[in-house]
Amino acid sequence: MTQKDLQDFLLSEGVVFAGGCRLPNSPIAGQSSLCYAFSFGVKLSDAVLKSIDSGPSYAYFQHYRTANALLDSLAFRLAQLLEKEGYSAFPVAASQSQGKANPYGGVYPHKTAAVLSGLGFVGKSGLFLSKDYGSKVRLATVLTDMPLTPDSPVIDNGCGDCKACVSACPAGAIYGTLPTTDGERNFDAEKCSKYMKEHFQDVGRGSVCGICIKVCPKNKLK
Ligand code: SF4
Ligand code: SF4
Repeated sequence: MTQKDLQDFLLSEGVVFAGGCRLPNSPIAGQSSLCYAFSFGVKLSDAVLKSIDSGPSYAYFQHYRTANALLDSLAFRLAQLLEKEGYSAFPVAASQSQGKANPYGGVYPHKTAAVLSGLGFVGKSGLFLSKDYGSKVRLATVLTDMPLTPDSPVIDNGCGDCKACVSACPAGAIYGTLPTTDGERNFDAEKCSKYMKEHFQDVGRGSVCGICIKVCPKNKLK
């Protein structure tokens, strides 16, 4: 099976984009060969995103969880296909947490793999924006030792002068700057999480918000 065969498998199962790339290093200790990544994403429903107002809706929380479940299932199946072909494969969960030691990060940032695969860019909101769907997407990643190359080059940030997410964020967590190449954050994940836990506790125990997705003009909600 080629890289294209595996990306076509993902596209036939409901993802809206899929790509692959080489990472600078394997993120998995003791498994240095896992330095390639498949990156893919599903699109969220415009109608559900429109139900977000000054905070998340129950519909958004349920939709978000369903998108994560689909991504995790596809990452699992892709890993099985890769192993059948004789490669190693390490699916990275759609929603990641490493416990108290690293509460806002996981095994590997999905958005970094997606950017390196030429699928989009990270906006001022700190969210990944895909070429065709903006930030109304959720991502998953499968690390592997199968050599992969991007179908498109890394693309420039396309936020321009927009600061809609900066003004809309109720937590004041978005700085309004572009992400830097040295990985410095352009939003305050702790502030965002704290605000959600304090104000949106009754929707998924304060694990989602969605305002910065809803207001992004790149999403062109229908
Ligand atoms: S999820 Fe909500 S609180 Fe967090 S950065 Fe986006 S708008 Fe701000
Ligand atoms: S709302 Fe504007 S500044 Fe924020 S991510 Fe979207 S395009 Fe970029």
